[in-house]
Amino acid sequence: MKTVVFPGSFDPLTLGHLDLIKRAAALSDNLIILILENKDKKCIFSAAERKAMIEKCLKGINNATVDIYDGLIVDYMKANNITAAIRGIRNSIDLDYESQWTAFNQKLYNGFESIYLLAKGEYSYLSSSGVRQLGAFGGDISKMVPDEIKEDVKNKLLNI
Ligand code: ADP
Repeated sequence: MKTVVFPGSFDPLTLGHLDLIKRAAALSDNLIILILENKDKKCIFSAAERKAMIEKCLKGINNATVDIYDGLIVDYMKANNITAAIRGIRNSIDLDYESQWTAFNQKLYNGFESIYLLAKGEYSYLSSSGVRQLGAFGGDISKMVPDEIKEDVKNKLLNI
C-alpha cells in the first residue's frame, strides 16, 4: 500500500496512537502522520510541540514522517495525491463518528478512502482527553504515553 495519511489532533500522542502508527507503517510504503489544526478544538500542546513529540517516538519506524496542516484533510490529500486515510476505532462511539467522517469526506473528494484499524484491547480505553485530565491533576500518565515523551507531557500538563 503506497502513501497513506493518519490525520488527528494528537493532543498529546498516546500509546494507542503509537500502536496505530506502527501497524499503519507496516501496511504502507510511506505513512504521513498529519497534525490537523482544528478550529473547533482548542489544543493544549502547540502543533510544533505535538510534531516534536511524535518525532521523538518514531525511532525504528523508517517510513513515517510528521506534517502539520491548517485546513481540510481532503485538500491536503488532493494536493499530495493521497487517496487513503488511516483512522482508529476504539468503540461504537468512534464507529458512529468515523462513519460520518468518512461519508463527509467522500462527498468532498471523489475517490477518498478510509482504512480503519481496530484499537488493541489494552488501548481501547485510552484517549488524549483522558491523559490531559489525569495529567492536569498530577495523576500518573506514564502507562498512557510513550516513554520518550512522558516527561514533556507531564510537565506541560502540570503547568497549564
Ligand atoms: P481527532 O481529534 O481527529 O479525533 P485524535 O488524536 O483524538 O484526533 O485521534 C486520531 C485517531 O486516532 C482517531 O481515528 C481516533 O479514533 C484514533 N485513536 C485515538 N485514540 C486511540 C487509541 N487508544 N487506540 C486506537 N486508536 C485511537
